[in-house]
Amino acid sequence: MTKPILLSSEIYGRTGQATAHPLAWPKTATALDIIQRLEWFDGSCQIECTKVHPRRLRSFHDQAYIDAAYTAEAEQCVSPLTRQKYGLGTGDNPIFPSIIERAATACGVALKAAELLTDGGIVHSPLGGAHHVHPARAAGFGYFNDLAIGILAMQDSGLRRIAYIDLDAHHGDGVEAAFAYDPNVLTFSIHEESCWPHTGTDSDPHYGVYNLCVPEGFSDSEMSFVVENALLPIVEKFAPEAIVIQAGADSLEEDRMMKLGLSNRAYYKTIDALRSLAPRIWITGGGGYNPWAVARCWAGIWCVLNGRDPAEEPPISDEQQIIDRVNQWPSVTKPPENWLSSLVDQTRDGDVRPCIKAATAKLAGS
Ligand SMILES: [Zn+2]
Repeated sequence: MTKPILLSSEIYGRTGQATAHPLAWPKTATALDIIQRLEWFDGSCQIECTKVHPRRLRSFHDQAYIDAAYTAEAEQCVSPLTRQKYGLGTGDNPIFPSIIERAATACGVALKAAELLTDGGIVHSPLGGAHHVHPARAAGFGYFNDLAIGILAMQDSGLRRIAYIDLDAHHGDGVEAAFAYDPNVLTFSIHEESCWPHTGTDSDPHYGVYNLCVPEGFSDSEMSFVVENALLPIVEKFAPEAIVIQAGADSLEEDRMMKLGLSNRAYYKTIDALRSLAPRIWITGGGGYNPWAVARCWAGIWCVLNGRDPAEEPPISDEQQIIDRVNQWPSVTKPPENWLSSLVDQTRDGDVRPCIKAATAKLAGS
């Protein structure tokens, strides 16, 4: 099997946007920093990507929306009409320098992933994952839906059956809507109940749409239960030619915005199990509002994809450059010792609650 490929872009490492907005937090750059310092890291597996030409966005986005997004970036302001019509320039989707360029770069990464996976393999791109974006609407800190654009490119390359697995704490509404009536694209989202965008409460197995709303405190034990009893059997039965995993890391207990209770072990275990179910695996970033927790998780995923145990990696505590990069951002607190001593959290186990058992059984039997 060929070695996994790491996709990156220097735009995610640029500083100068040190606002308190989550979009400015250095989670991707920190994940890449940690990955690149791994002793066994081989730079030949890393590919630097560039932004796409705006016309390549038309596979998913409306032309008028694309025009509005680029105009907003050029002018650094939006009209009330644009704000209302396209969701650009809102509190969630602010316009600041390079923000549209960054979104277009994530789409460049998506197209590169689709190209690289034509003949099989594993691609990890710890960025992008803008799963809320619709064809003509920015949403949820996202401007262009790199996931949909990547999946559409995979279809263009001849792949038919594609499974999309969304581990982010929010429902992957934009991706689900894009493929909800395409039975050849399965979408499976596990997300916190009663949270924005308040979708993803129902499933439609006939069209390959699966959703599982989980309560606060969702634990590693509960995730394992869901994975073993619903996710893996459903994906295996679907027999995908490719699996796309949105690894938004806001389901981690350390996340500041969400209230789920996973350790990064749950991500590692789930991804390790999924990667044997298809000859092509593409893993993206997504949400995550604690840069330390996100970066450790996405770096640990790279270890897992390379058949390495993240628990055996040396501590980050001596990597002052990495620590300084994160600490320069507002709202970032000093990391506790255990975040620096290992890429692996303690397991967060507990009883599997009846509501999880019931929801899992319902999905598995659907
Ligand atoms: Zn999220």
